[in-house]
Amino acid sequence: MTTPRRACIIGHPVKHSRSPMIHGFWLKGFGLEGSYEREDVTPDALEAFLRGLAARGYVGGNVTIPHKEAAFGTVDRRTARAEALGAVNTVWFEDGLLWGDNTDVTGFLANLDDRAPGWDHGLDKAVVLGAGGAAAAIVAGIKERGAKRIFVANRTAEKTEALIRRFGSVVEAAAWPPSAATFAGAGLLVNTTSLGMDGKPGLDIDLAGLPPQAVVTDAVYVPLETELLANAAARGLRTVDGLGMLLHQAVPGFERWFGRRPVVTPELRALVEADIGR
Ligand code: NAP
Repeated sequence: MTTPRRACIIGHPVKHSRSPMIHGFWLKGFGLEGSYEREDVTPDALEAFLRGLAARGYVGGNVTIPHKEAAFGTVDRRTARAEALGAVNTVWFEDGLLWGDNTDVTGFLANLDDRAPGWDHGLDKAVVLGAGGAAAAIVAGIKERGAKRIFVANRTAEKTEALIRRFGSVVEAAAWPPSAATFAGAGLLVNTTSLGMDGKPGLDIDLAGLPPQAVVTDAVYVPLETELLANAAARGLRTVDGLGMLLHQAVPGFERWFGRRPVVTPELRALVEADIGR
């Protein structure tokens, strides 16, 4: 008999994470005996926790706020994507070494591919609002798909400068708040700020400058339909909510820990949507 595999989500706080629901759904679907648990770990305890992950009986896990950068510094080996972002959200063991990947890029791209097929065809210009951790993953994804110009508008200009240093001249600084001129000719608009999230101020911007074929997406997924997405839909633009990014980013981790590649199904989406609605 083999021991059931255990993975976890490491964060602080971690009690509101929906990752246990997602991985639990897949474990049940495959009829696997493993588990996916919550681990609330304070920043000062993170390194020791990761070093002792195997001793605690885990085959790996996810790393979330506020630990993604610290985990990057702690793992033994990193994927090219993690290297490009300076942040790790998924860890696992290979030949006794702790590996780190960043699956937010995959999550972002798979969500758009799924819900707005063709979004990247001939993508010339994209606009990203925000310049934090989610923005880095999203800029990496848009760059990977060949956008020629990515305009980043962020309240704190130094963070935009840091993205330009990381990703090169494909990224250009735009004013915050963004103007109609910034939106002109953009095929994609992404909000990666926390504005619009439950309990935060809304993101009230004028979308009049966006062309009619533009796709608008939001990293925020609570609520599912943010003010930005509602405004974009009212203008007849294609919109994609942020829940799919969360669901798709979980796929590579599950496969590494449990050996089966899961699929993001409408049933899984409905389960998490119902939880968001509660
Ligand atoms: P972060 O690194 O803390 O970045 C937060 C961003 O929001 C920064 O650009 C910040 O601007 C901006 N911001 C915050 N308050 C603002 C305000 N009052 N006015 C203007 N800008 C403001 O956070 P993150 O990890 O990137 O996460 C950002 C959002 O994405 C969160 O809502 C998170 O839940 C969501 N997210 C979703 C997924 C998904 O799978 N769907 C994945 C990751 C993150 P400054 O630089 O000026 O502070």
